Amino acid sequence: MVKRFLKLLGIVLFLLVIGIGVRTFIIRHDKKELVPVTPKASTAPVFDKKQFSTSDPASIWMVVNKHRPINPVSYVPADLVIPNVPLRVPGNDSMQVRKVTATALEMMFAAAKADGLNLMLSSGYRSYQYQVGLYNGYVASSSVAEADKTSARPGYSEHQSGLAADIEPASEKCDVDVCFAQLPEGVWLAANAYKYGFIIRYTSDKVPVTGYTYEPWHVRYVGTALSNEMHKEKIETLEEFFSLGAAPSYSS
Ligand SMILES: [Zn+2]
Repeated sequence: MVKRFLKLLGIVLFLLVIGIGVRTFIIRHDKKELVPVTPKASTAPVFDKKQFSTSDPASIWMVVNKHRPINPVSYVPADLVIPNVPLRVPGNDSMQVRKVTATALEMMFAAAKADGLNLMLSSGYRSYQYQVGLYNGYVASSSVAEADKTSARPGYSEHQSGLAADIEPASEKCDVDVCFAQLPEGVWLAANAYKYGFIIRYTSDKVPVTGYTYEPWHVRYVGTALSNEMHKEKIETLEEFFSLGAAPSYSS
């Protein structure tokens, strides 16, 4: 009995010794294979904020605000077209937008329709001369101070770029009114515009930066690279993204 026990103990000890030996051998050999690991540099591409001009009126990143008039003020986009979407005033010049804007609007309107929402283009391109009439009309009916709150001075309107569009529901409910933000169409636009290269240009909490009151209907085409990046970084305005400074009012 004791003999058998000792024999068993011997076998167990033998296996234990063999096991430790093999393990030490493996570890020693593994160590040989160890190569110092140098931390890899981040492979995430850095967004190039200089890809496109912010001052050339034909650039999709052009920034126009109360400190940055369109230069030249007589600028007319070379590729204005009428997008294939429901139009508030068919045949009117203001139903035009630049080709890139038109393509993006068509994709966005189709996506909204697939979600059961019918959008309409309320206003697109506005010429310098059109803005002269519009702005002077506001001034005549109120004052320069009042007009500046809602209408851009001629040469300062983003609509002149052909990259801006005012959107409304096909029902024309809340046309160019803040109540648009509460409608399903307005909620959808705020949540999805960036996927098609647009930003809501004048948001409710950025009035001191943009100099414009909340315009949930006004979208600006900037291309999907920039709209996705702004969405990712949670930056709402072009002024902040490009560090251009706030433009709350005209300097003169
Ligand atoms: Zn607008």
